[in-house]
Amino acid sequence: MELRARRFPPTVASQVDCSSKAKPIRTYTCLCGATTFFDNTRCLTCGREQGFCPKCRTLSALLPQPDFSYRCGTCDAPVGKCWNYSANSVCNRCVSPPTEGALCDCCRFNATIPDLSVSGNAAKWYRLEAAKRRLFYDLDLLGLPYGTSSDGIDPPLAFDFKADYIPVDDFWRPTGDEEQVYTGHANGRITINVREADDVEREKLRVDMGEAHRTLIGHFRHEIGHYYWDMLVKDRREDEFKALFGDHENPAYNDAMNAYYQSGPAYDWPSRCVSAYASMHPWEDFAETWARYLAMISALDTARHAGFETETDSTRDSIDTLVARYQRLGIALNEINRSMGLIDVVPDVFVPAVVEKLRYIDGLVREARENNQVFRSVAALG
Ligand SMILES: [Zn+2]
Ligand SMILES: [Zn+2]
Ligand SMILES: [Zn+2]
Ligand SMILES: [Zn+2]
Repeated sequence: MELRARRFPPTVASQVDCSSKAKPIRTYTCLCGATTFFDNTRCLTCGREQGFCPKCRTLSALLPQPDFSYRCGTCDAPVGKCWNYSANSVCNRCVSPPTEGALCDCCRFNATIPDLSVSGNAAKWYRLEAAKRRLFYDLDLLGLPYGTSSDGIDPPLAFDFKADYIPVDDFWRPTGDEEQVYTGHANGRITINVREADDVEREKLRVDMGEAHRTLIGHFRHEIGHYYWDMLVKDRREDEFKALFGDHENPAYNDAMNAYYQSGPAYDWPSRCVSAYASMHPWEDFAETWARYLAMISALDTARHAGFETETDSTRDSIDTLVARYQRLGIALNEINRSMGLIDVVPDVFVPAVVEKLRYIDGLVREARENNQVFRSVAALG
């Protein structure tokens, strides 16, 4: 059975403004008054179809029109379902104006999708897309730039969702020359092995590797960290980076990786890194810290709108305030989870060295947001 991922048909870029700032809400309201959620495609109370509108950035009821398109139930914009919503049921976003075959502002970055003739891959793809939509929510919340070459963005962002070529009997056993898919990033291309979307296998690996968390959204947040290193640090702020994270050129990445898998993490990683894996190489340290930064922003944003953290504004508050509130929130959430017999929601301990790395990343994010606003207003002027 062929497990190699196939190329996705040529994409049709949607007409939506992918850089608009997301509305900072995680729950929404249907026209009938019922609460709806980020991943909904239908209101469970009144049965109306739901879709994320690119114009008002809100999950809205979709009002059917005689020509089989829709109007947004929130802002009345003409909208159509993303092709991956209407044809593949892995998305709940819309495009505006309605365009046959168009992909939404999340799906348009897919370069490779899983082979859907393989049993189980459609469900795994659905989970991957759901995690990816949350990643884009984080990036929009922070006002970070991303895009393709035609958007004028370097490096151009793309996703490959691939499976190992040869089925393996044992979990994650190497399958031969270049036949195993490694989750990773290279020049804007983020590859995720679709096995990561199998809950049982991912949990086995988490336990095997001694990780506090292993989640799909965590993979996306980590890999996009490498993407932003290339965009915001490489050839720009490498000296500052070295001073905090270490020399990324010495030892070379491959040597550091081999040493890590032979000898394990640095003994002193808890005093300077957010995870054992972060101690492998400065690039991994950056990606791990970046992922924690996004997780912190996302958790505080959600908590704020759920009524826990009414004052936090991730785009205005200082990093020290954000860290303090996140740690306080984490203690409460962890205790709730422990009372339910679940693993900690916020396992991270931000030691002073890690806070300084978060401060560096926070500075990068704020500068990138300002530059992105200028970039977008210049682009809007044509
Ligand atoms: Zn409803
Ligand atoms: Zn709308
Ligand atoms: Zn889509
Ligand atoms: Zn990495």
